[in-house]
Amino acid sequence: MSTLTRIVPWSQQLACEVLQPGELAVDLTAGKGRDTLCLAKAVGPGGQVVAFDVQQVALQQTAAFLEEHDLEATFWPADQAVPDSPGIYLVCGCHSLLAKVLHRSAQAIIANLGYLPGGDQTLITQPETTLLALQQSLDLLAPCGRLAVTVYPSHHGGADEAQAVDQFFQVLPRELWQVLLIKAANRPEAPYLWVAEPN
Ligand code: SAH
Repeated sequence: MSTLTRIVPWSQQLACEVLQPGELAVDLTAGKGRDTLCLAKAVGPGGQVVAFDVQQVALQQTAAFLEEHDLEATFWPADQAVPDSPGIYLVCGCHSLLAKVLHRSAQAIIANLGYLPGGDQTLITQPETTLLALQQSLDLLAPCGRLAVTVYPSHHGGADEAQAVDQFFQVLPRELWQVLLIKAANRPEAPYLWVAEPN
């Protein structure tokens, strides 16, 4: 089957293609760690990845997945700023703490909303905290950086969040931001991708 409308590979490609070795990237929703791995490979051993998740079990899965790829991660408390040193930092806490945990600009920030695949389907990202994290992400983004957000509109609670995220991106001032939407136009229930880059 064609992979044209698979959204996660688009998200990873558009986020990772702006990353150079040694740079800083953020994963707002670590989940099973697939995006974290992709970012970590793009920034290399001299770069830094900060990945958030509210579920310890997700971060454990992320750490295990990274280890399978010979990458070691450090668990980091959500009430402390991450150091400047290279590495993959797994923060167990809400992504709305982003600006407290990170004080430097990031080159790429990725979010994959919804619930943990294979996990608790009632534990989902929530509109209010998602919007806080997205606003902080724009504030932290480097001049040629990108924010890539995959939205899931069809699980219980997903439509509200999708509406909030759509509104967030649609009203970004065009003088300041380029905003791209990638969507399977004949599948309204499918996940879709917003990407923003400073103008
Ligand atoms: N990117 C992942 C999938 C993410 S699933 C992958 O590639 O596998 C969404 C994740 O968001 C879940 O693991 C869930 O625990 C997490 N999450 C939910 N609310 C959150 C919040 N407020 N802050 C950070 N993570 C959250």
